[in-house]
Amino acid sequence: MAHHDDKIRHVEISLIQVPLKNAVSDAKVLTGRQQPLSHVAVLTADIETVHGARGFGFSYTLRAGSAAIFAHARELAPFLIDEDPNDIGRLWEKLAWQGASIGRSGLAVQAIAAFDTALWDLKAKRVELSIGKFLGCYRTAIPCYNTSGGYLNATLDEVLRNVDTSLDKGLGGIKLKVGQPDLSKDIERVRAVRKHVGDSVPIMVDANQQWDYTTALRAGCELDEFNLVWLEEPLSAYDYAGHARLAEKLKTPIATGEMLSSVAEVQNLIEQRSVTFLQPDVPRVGGFTPFLRIMAQAEQHRLKLAPHFVMEQHVHVAAAFQNETWVEHIEWLEPMFNERLEIKDGLMYLPTRPGVGFSLSGQALEWRVAHARV
Ligand SMILES: [Mg+2]
Repeated sequence: MAHHDDKIRHVEISLIQVPLKNAVSDAKVLTGRQQPLSHVAVLTADIETVHGARGFGFSYTLRAGSAAIFAHARELAPFLIDEDPNDIGRLWEKLAWQGASIGRSGLAVQAIAAFDTALWDLKAKRVELSIGKFLGCYRTAIPCYNTSGGYLNATLDEVLRNVDTSLDKGLGGIKLKVGQPDLSKDIERVRAVRKHVGDSVPIMVDANQQWDYTTALRAGCELDEFNLVWLEEPLSAYDYAGHARLAEKLKTPIATGEMLSSVAEVQNLIEQRSVTFLQPDVPRVGGFTPFLRIMAQAEQHRLKLAPHFVMEQHVHVAAAFQNETWVEHIEWLEPMFNERLEIKDGLMYLPTRPGVGFSLSGQALEWRVAHARV
């Protein structure tokens, strides 16, 4: 069937509060800036066309913002009706203009991300390709690392047990949270894990923006001896110049970008030469459409890519990125889907299912707190 004359008939959105098995704490909790994280709020979008094609997409928020992102998405949804679902870029712009007065970053684009990822899902499903293959892959198995075992609420013994579990599951690398008030405690944890796993297992550390420049420099110099893959968010996410200064002084590559919520913000990070590993997040920047613009710039600047969280979407863009890339394994969203990602020998495999390749589980519907259909 030709799809030139197809139109969007229905749009359905839901807000799902996914509970974490155990609440987690990073450095921001230790310094009192945030409470432990207990839920992920997921905004989902189902789009259906006159020809019966369907797309499923999602975005998310942590802590405050879920009611607002749902409310904004509900206001945007009617603007998709009767539109051609193939014209994804134009529809992204149309929705962005509806919310122009609340800006082109943050919640305004994160609401659009649910629709944008649903439209890409729909389009790839028409040709029965995964998003990764629809974009074109450089690889179908991507190096992956585990984050969820290395939070600061876990004791060192628990962290070491979590490390063993991660490696047994086939995950390749291990990320450890740092940024405790006492730097020597961070160093002790990293040293213990390095000793435990040996030299060949990749280790990353993440300070979640807790240091000022001088602390970050001191910490980075001490961490240089552990041959880390990267040092993540040593400084405020918006301190582009600080990251660039730090990168010049340290052997360990710098990674950041997860908090940025527009192409323009990430572009600033790239242009100021702040990072080696760029860590944008598909839902946070507004969906696959803006993310592809970021990927193109990152490739042009010979950067490496390590997208933040949401492995279900990021496995696809990582497969389609030219240079070195890592997928972050965080299993928090697993219970809301019927499908699982395959992981083996340090690699995460691109799903062969069409589109993004995930559908909502019955459990997810039980966690649904809001719903609307146009
Ligand atoms: Mg991080």
